[in-house]
Amino acid sequence: MPYAKREDEIAHGRRYRQRNKERIVAKRREYNRRNRERIAVHDRERRQVLRAQMVEAYGGRCACCGETELAFLTLDHIEGGGTKDRKGPGGTEGLYRRLKRAGWPNGYQVLCANCNMAKEAPKGCPHRRRADEA
Ligand SMILES: [Zn+2]
Ligand SMILES: [Zn+2]
Repeated sequence: MPYAKREDEIAHGRRYRQRNKERIVAKRREYNRRNRERIAVHDRERRQVLRAQMVEAYGGRCACCGETELAFLTLDHIEGGGTKDRKGPGGTEGLYRRLKRAGWPNGYQVLCANCNMAKEAPKGCPHRRRADEA
């Protein structure tokens, strides 16, 4: 019966892993050591994908000046509290992951680094000021 054989195979695999636990762990550690560079690249790519998804989910551009260059864009907590968010588990990436899992909830917007920084300025972002004066 093929089913019984499959069961045997699984049991055999389990026994093998139990008997060779240390060797398997060592092997994996060795793999990680040898592929550190590749794993780092992979992590970087995964972070970039997550960031791109975040930017896309929150409008795809700077809410202030319309900048679309991904490298410039950051997530802004509209009501403030961004620092607290980022200090949560996993830092910025952890925050993006939590937001993604929550279905990209409201209360956030995308700002470019310039506009995000200028938000703290006494008169707000110069883009807004120019728009007000016009
Ligand atoms: Zn901007
Ligand atoms: Zn601006």
